[in-house]
Amino acid sequence: MEKIGLLPINAIGAQFCERLAPCLEERFLHKFALEKPLTLSPSLANAARHQYFLTTVFNKMSGTSPNRDGFLLGLMSDDLYKTSHSFIFGDASDTDRIAVVSTFRLRPEFYNEKPDDAALFNRVLKECVHALGHAFGLKHCYNARCAMYYSHSVYDTDGKQNYFCDTCDKRLRANR
Ligand SMILES: [Zn+2]
Ligand SMILES: [Zn+2]
Repeated sequence: MEKIGLLPINAIGAQFCERLAPCLEERFLHKFALEKPLTLSPSLANAARHQYFLTTVFNKMSGTSPNRDGFLLGLMSDDLYKTSHSFIFGDASDTDRIAVVSTFRLRPEFYNEKPDDAALFNRVLKECVHALGHAFGLKHCYNARCAMYYSHSVYDTDGKQNYFCDTCDKRLRANR
């Protein structure tokens, strides 16, 4: 069985990843291994937007394990964007088997609400399931309760569950 590397980036603590790993193992039936943390220099971020470009992050992540044969999931504290999207919660490439999630806009504080670890953890879990789902070749799902539903905002994230609907789950098993 291939392992999935879990890579903490910048201010993400190893402890948070260690809590996340068993929840993801349950859904993907793969072993997760914590990778050595990656620090991205602030000079790599877009200075005007104060955001990191998705492709830049993927390139840096790939550089940490050039001979990787399994999947890699990065978790970062900073804001992310990609071409045609002013921000993203996360994304993936199924050809490169790589995914990343940003906690930046999943924190209640971002919406002027008080910090809530349980709410943050559940949102991060949902977006990690979503992004890794893409890395396994899953597309967006129209079921608003499914983890593969596209979140336009954090309210969509709060409305969905932290696992796949039956249809997506079957597809995942077929792709695995
Ligand atoms: Zn998506
Ligand atoms: Zn689904």
